[in-house]
Amino acid sequence: MKSITRQKPFSEVVQLLDRFDRVYIIGCGTCATMARTGGRDEVLDMKNRLQETGKLVTGWTVIPTACDEMTEAAARENEGAIKNANCSLVMACALGVHRVNSYLNNKAVIPALDTLFIGMEDSPGSFYEACAQCGQCVLGETAGICPLTACNKGLLNGPCGGTNNGRCEVDKEKDCAFTLIYQRLKEQGRLDLMRKYHPPKNYQVVPRPRIINLG
Ligand code: SF4
Ligand code: SF4
Repeated sequence: MKSITRQKPFSEVVQLLDRFDRVYIIGCGTCATMARTGGRDEVLDMKNRLQETGKLVTGWTVIPTACDEMTEAAARENEGAIKNANCSLVMACALGVHRVNSYLNNKAVIPALDTLFIGMEDSPGSFYEACAQCGQCVLGETAGICPLTACNKGLLNGPCGGTNNGRCEVDKEKDCAFTLIYQRLKEQGRLDLMRKYHPPKNYQVVPRPRIINLG
């Protein structure tokens, strides 16, 4: 499982950094390195591009795993260069941004990436979204295929009226999620479940922010 990210357009990064002239850059050695969005190469590329726009880059680092406690040690280790900047640009997923933010209270923390989804690798370098972490899993009744992630509209009850010859109306290259669910339920002798109505999510069951205390 990896946090899949995409770099924001450089123009958006520049706009987010508009009020800051001194920047410290933080990358991530795990998911963002794998996704080629926030590893060493991308951090150095960002540094060069920002310098070309006239920003002073006071320093940079690639934290081995930006979303865990190593971030605190990295923040301490690079304290001087971070202090010299008036913001940190984080090239990690949103979890890494949150983590950095929790250690740099008095400094602005700016994300350089968009976090797209938590992905499962199906072949080297190819990831797909398997779960949207909705908090009320229906896989037991959908033959193990998640309608929230496999259906372009994220429908719990389907198919929608646009399904055509088993294909999705939004993306004709793709099988309709409910065709896949139908086929698998049929193979499993559980086709009656296609008629089962799934009510809208109960947001009282999964209040935000979601918190769990395993202690
Ligand atoms: S229904 Fe889909 S999004 Fe929700 S928990 Fe199950 S796999 Fe994840
Ligand atoms: S055609 Fe199927 S997969 Fe596409 S949006 Fe409609 S229900 Fe979802």
